[in-house]
Amino acid sequence: MKKNTSTNPYNGESINSYNRDTQESLDIKLQSSLSVENQWQETSIKSRSKLLSKVSSLLVERKEVYGKLITQEMGKPIAQSISEIEKCAWACDFYATNAEDLLADELIETDASESFISYDPLGCILAVMPWNYPFWQVIRFAAPTLTAGNTVLLKHAANVSGCSKAIEQLFLDAGYPEGCFQSIIAGHEEIERLIANDHVKAVTLTGSEKAGKSIAKLAGEHLKKSVLELGGNNACIIWEDADLETHLDTMVMARMQNTGQSCIAAKRFIVCEDIYDTFMEQFIAKVKDLKSGDPMKDDTYIGVMAREDLAETLQQQINDSIAMGAKNVLGNERSGAYFSPTIITEVTPDMPIFKEETFGPVAAIIKAKDRAETLALATDSRFGLGSMLFTQDIDAAYSVISNIPDGAFFVNDMVKSDPRLPFGGTKASGYGRELSREGILEFVNKKTVYIN
Ligand code: NDP
Repeated sequence: MKKNTSTNPYNGESINSYNRDTQESLDIKLQSSLSVENQWQETSIKSRSKLLSKVSSLLVERKEVYGKLITQEMGKPIAQSISEIEKCAWACDFYATNAEDLLADELIETDASESFISYDPLGCILAVMPWNYPFWQVIRFAAPTLTAGNTVLLKHAANVSGCSKAIEQLFLDAGYPEGCFQSIIAGHEEIERLIANDHVKAVTLTGSEKAGKSIAKLAGEHLKKSVLELGGNNACIIWEDADLETHLDTMVMARMQNTGQSCIAAKRFIVCEDIYDTFMEQFIAKVKDLKSGDPMKDDTYIGVMAREDLAETLQQQINDSIAMGAKNVLGNERSGAYFSPTIITEVTPDMPIFKEETFGPVAAIIKAKDRAETLALATDSRFGLGSMLFTQDIDAAYSVISNIPDGAFFVNDMVKSDPRLPFGGTKASGYGRELSREGILEFVNKKTVYIN
């Protein structure tokens, strides 16, 4: 029988192994989801929201246990793993409080005596999720999707099968009927079969561009709705009047938290030349101060990357860029899955660390002659997840909103997800939105009702 093995990327120890689902066991899971569908759809939104509140309280109660599991499976420093669980509880609370309003019929005046939009569940939704925020990525999709009356099948990344199983158990412990939320341990071929199955109504993926293309193609072939949250190459634009004293810590965190493995991380720092030297001096000093070490220790900020191959890919992107003329001013040292916090300057648009997503603790620095050039460089990207701008000139920031073709534009803060705000990208960063009202309305039938 095929197995997924979880290995601690910090010490190479094997944690556990999980049997992959067979065709037979997948059929049983599909059947279980089908059996609960009517009952779940008929459960009131109020009752579904109550169950979600219970998930929230269990997350808070178990944050240390789940945090430890995340850290063991993918190397995130423990304090950040626990914060991830707290954020999941926040998203559950948000939807538990607001789902009834967000899903209420929307009256629209027409010639009819009554006309409105009814938001009905679609049915079973398949979620293909990544390892970088193994709880958050799942919960931010599942909390609204389940509360809208859908069921969920989760295929998590192969290296975080323990998290996948723990999340399944979490929903059962909260009192969700069996079949509402199921974890499947499967390879890519099984995903293809699931998307083709009539019972599966839609699919969502968070992951790489390559995985996105493959899932979108399958979804298209079978005429299933898809939502894709893919990679990003966010610019962090620093104008000459940026308040470094207030915002430098945020800029460092924007790149380095989660050991740089975040789709919305600041990957390209595009800095006006008038502030460049001051910024560099302070930025290097702050990054040097970040504490690397055992991810299980409370004071570790930089853990290990989730897998050694990911660290190797990062090193290749950096070294190829250096061969093209970039300068290594800090770090660029790898040992197994550990990658030291790295700063690379003199980066130009033709280099891999400008063009491609870098998923690790490396900041690519680009000097621009003026504000106009910062914007031209920032938008020179195939990706469109988000951009951030640091300036004290708020009027000027307003005036460039329409120049940013991304899913998010943050001024004087890092791009971050918030349950109250929509989250998602444009261009090669994917399509569709998660979180907020937009997120809960992704997997519903927006049914027009017309009564005369
Ligand atoms: P992947 O995109 O390959 O993995 C994400 C998820 O998609 C996993 O569950 C994976 O399953 C699944 N998957 C991948 N390909 C397919 C497929 N053809 N059919 C069905 N499921 C598929 O990411 P990697 O782990 O390989 O990371 C590579 C790069 O992707 C990173 O360096 C980063 O640039 C980007 N990435 C972006 C993320 C984001 O948040 N936007 C998250 C993770 C990665 P399995 O694990 O079984 O292969």
